[in-house]
Amino acid sequence: MRFTTRLLHGSFGPDQATGATTQPIFQTSAFYQETAEDMARVFAGRKPGFVYTRVSNPTLMSLERRINDLEGGAGAVACASGMAAVSQAVLNVLREGDEFVASGGLYGGTSALFRDLAHYGIQVRYADGDSPEAFEAVMTERTRLLYVETIGNPKLDVPDIKALAELAHAHEVPLFVDNTVTTPYLCQPLALGADVVIHSTSKSLNGNGNSIGGIVVSGRNFRWDPVRFPKFQDYRFGPMSFLVRMRMRMVTDYGGCMAPMNAYLTGIGLDTLALRLDRITSTAQQLAEHFAARGVAVNYPGLASSPYHEVAKKQFGNRYGAMLTLRLGTKEKAFDFINHLHYALNVSNIGDARTLVLHPATTIFVHASEEEKAAAGVTDDLVRINVGLEDPEDLLEDFQQALQQI
Ligand SMILES: *Cc1c(COP(=O)(O)O)cnc(C)c1O
Repeated sequence: MRFTTRLLHGSFGPDQATGATTQPIFQTSAFYQETAEDMARVFAGRKPGFVYTRVSNPTLMSLERRINDLEGGAGAVACASGMAAVSQAVLNVLREGDEFVASGGLYGGTSALFRDLAHYGIQVRYADGDSPEAFEAVMTERTRLLYVETIGNPKLDVPDIKALAELAHAHEVPLFVDNTVTTPYLCQPLALGADVVIHSTSKSLNGNGNSIGGIVVSGRNFRWDPVRFPKFQDYRFGPMSFLVRMRMRMVTDYGGCMAPMNAYLTGIGLDTLALRLDRITSTAQQLAEHFAARGVAVNYPGLASSPYHEVAKKQFGNRYGAMLTLRLGTKEKAFDFINHLHYALNVSNIGDARTLVLHPATTIFVHASEEEKAAAGVTDDLVRINVGLEDPEDLLEDFQQALQQI
């Protein structure tokens, strides 16, 4: 089975009870068991079944199975948002006194969270760049995980996942990869050696911008040694430890579960993932080439001028995502450009059906220090474009007329 067929049929079939061809929304908080014995068995994990939606729910389970299948994981846990997925995945492993190493220029919410973790005695260290050498330079004996995003936003840097996984494993720590921007259609980090994959499903997996959600997918190989990772002392399930603890201790106790309605809407969006991303990545490539041919300073991993072109080509199979950036000379020109666009909406998220545009320096990076902005490649003249599903010719014409007016 190829990707899109697997997406539609792999772990998905008509509802067994009713024959419904879309996943029904189980909009319920709790589930009944016929006898006290049955309830006790479900609680003890000896009988499959549902108890309470914070722990699990059939609508969530359907989405978890589908995304897990696409990522090639051992299992997945749906979360309330991408941030709930990031925070619960990281806190499932780390504890006071631990350190972890991340690439600079992470998604703003993630870097704010990582800063806050210092209050719990968990210290993030940032590598100077994406290379394994840069990561190794800041690793210590307290390092307990490595954390990267498949394409940095808005720097558009692309770490070599395979090389970083090898480094992580040489130090007996796991590699976490946020695959939000690329989705499993472009990149399957577990196959490249990563151990945990995180998504904000609010973006391209949903694709229609109609609900917030997140998901954490566990790989099959990392063993979560309970001496090195004491949080797993009571969860000695080998490679399944992360997953079991994620559901039992994180979503169950911290409470960041996904809403059934959001899982339903995300599942509908997921049906068209490949179709949407084919269109979007092809349009993004055309736009990037169009800008480059006219001498506009454009950054896109699909252009040979990007220092990350080769590694992106290797990891993403000749598709380079929806995001590109332009440098227009001054902040005023950047603002003017945005204000002259007819189709691209001035919006701060990514991964929508509509093309979105943003001035990062005065929005998502407004509270960042000069150092953080430099690490993330954010300059005052930078405009971020997130390509949507419009006719490419209309987008080209619209961007062109806006460029002519600045
Ligand atoms: C949006 C995003 C998040 C956070 O997701 P939410 O669903 O908004 O909480 C995390 N990582 C990346 C790369 C994102 O783009």
